[in-house]
Amino acid sequence: MRIYDIIKKKRDGSALSRAEIDYFVEGYTAGEIEDYQASALLMAIYFNDLNNAETIALTEAMMHSGDVVKLTAIDGVKVDKHSTGGVGDTTTMVLAPLVASCGVPIAKMSGRGLGHTGGTVDKLTSIPGFQVELTAQDFAKNVNRYGIAVIGQSKNIAPADKKLYALRDVTATVENIALIASSIMSKKLAAGSNGIVLDVKTGSGAFIKEESESIRLAKAMVDIGNGMNRQTVAAITDMSQPLGFAIGNSIEVIEAIETLKGNGPADLTELCLTLGAHMVVIGGKATRFEDAYQMLKAAIESGRALAKFRDFITAQGGDGGVVDDYALLPTAPIAHEVRALQSGYIAAFESEEIGRCAMLLGAGRANITDEIDLSAGILLARKIGDKVSTGDLLATFYSSSSDNIDEVEAIFLKAIGIVDQPCEVPELVKAIVTADEIVK
Ligand code: URA
Ligand code: CA
Repeated sequence: MRIYDIIKKKRDGSALSRAEIDYFVEGYTAGEIEDYQASALLMAIYFNDLNNAETIALTEAMMHSGDVVKLTAIDGVKVDKHSTGGVGDTTTMVLAPLVASCGVPIAKMSGRGLGHTGGTVDKLTSIPGFQVELTAQDFAKNVNRYGIAVIGQSKNIAPADKKLYALRDVTATVENIALIASSIMSKKLAAGSNGIVLDVKTGSGAFIKEESESIRLAKAMVDIGNGMNRQTVAAITDMSQPLGFAIGNSIEVIEAIETLKGNGPADLTELCLTLGAHMVVIGGKATRFEDAYQMLKAAIESGRALAKFRDFITAQGGDGGVVDDYALLPTAPIAHEVRALQSGYIAAFESEEIGRCAMLLGAGRANITDEIDLSAGILLARKIGDKVSTGDLLATFYSSSSDNIDEVEAIFLKAIGIVDQPCEVPELVKAIVTADEIVK
């Protein structure tokens, strides 16, 4: 087989065989195929696309390029959740204990990564003592015993994707649905769970901003997952504004705990109940979505979900007392109030810009080696649809330094649209995509 012939075949619009896709992925990962040839093939794929069989073959090849986690030592039907990424997405910290408290084992690997805030693993490390590095044995033991464990992602998950994604990033070949879907799913499938619930964000803070494109991506990922015998469901959810009020690390831990206590923001609570109910159904603990949804609500109201969070934190070496005492978490020395310069109604957020503000305050990383300030972030006081008068509080900035606060405030104020007329609160869950249908 020659890479030249594979490039030419895709350039001329034919479908590649599984053997050809394996040859490419293995050769490129091993350094035997050059970047310029891989780039040419990616561009040919960008223009001529991949059919379902090719997309599944590419996903499998990338998935098997590194470690494939076996969760066989863990009892029960393991269900994972993945979000395509948004601003202030506190979901995993709520969802994991909430779903675990209803009997679905949660064996989650979560990223650190780059972004406006840290990943879930960074957020959890703001809890004193909490350990994200567990051995495979302790990981399995904790899930079997407590029903839940969350650890940092191993470095050797889908290395082929890591290399190809970096190449796509510099060759203008990221924006292809089959390539994105296979990239995300190769990592998810390598993580080993039996079922997957995908949260595909749409709107100004999402990776894909158009709803119809988000649905196409969701369908592609659902088809890959189900095609590989993992029951997979996707929710298309609103990211036209940050989720909840907190965007940061320790402040998102507080938001998660409040949500588990039943005092959470309406959007975050609703999203966790919706995604969680699909996880409970896939995990076999309820047959109907509505029943699962009520089970989860009851777990919050009875305090079981919060108790599960406390046990989970304690089991991983953390101070479970944080659920009652937020002063145990890192607290920023500077709290800066941002107030409205005009009256009206909040109509829109440029969510990516709001995320960038959180990062500039120290909450996230631009480079993988950057240190995160776990206490930094933004606590919004208003969301879309709210009425404001001049001088009303819009948000509080938390930071360890006042050096760039004025500059960040200027970016923040520009990223909020205030209009004269009342406006509607955006619908949170826009569609559900399953193997058989798309329900709006
Ligand atoms: N996120 C990924 O992991 N891969 C893509 O291709 C795009 C977004
Ligand atoms: Ca949040």
